[in-house]
Amino acid sequence: MTEYTPAKRPRRFIAGAVCPKCSEMDRTVMYSNDDGEEVRECISCGFKQTTSEQAAEDAAAQELVTRVTPDGKAILDEGEQPLKIIGLSSATDDKSVT
Ligand SMILES: [Zn+2]
Repeated sequence: MTEYTPAKRPRRFIAGAVCPKCSEMDRTVMYSNDDGEEVRECISCGFKQTTSEQAAEDAAAQELVTRVTPDGKAILDEGEQPLKIIGLSSATDDKSVT
């Protein structure tokens, strides 16, 4: 078994990816760093982000989106939803049975 470390890590362009920093499209490459983590790098502005960094950012962004509702609707936790649905359907059942 021959082990070798390639001098150049394979980089691949991400089609349609937009750099979050300079907003350039198709300038983002992806490769693995020494920790085996995927890194996104913008060859236009040099912006770099690992997948774990991105995941953390995505989670934060998603939380922001779920908190801000345009029509002020209450957001239910997944655990709350079944309770409400069961309560609603049994109430309507009672009325329609007559
Ligand atoms: Zn960029």
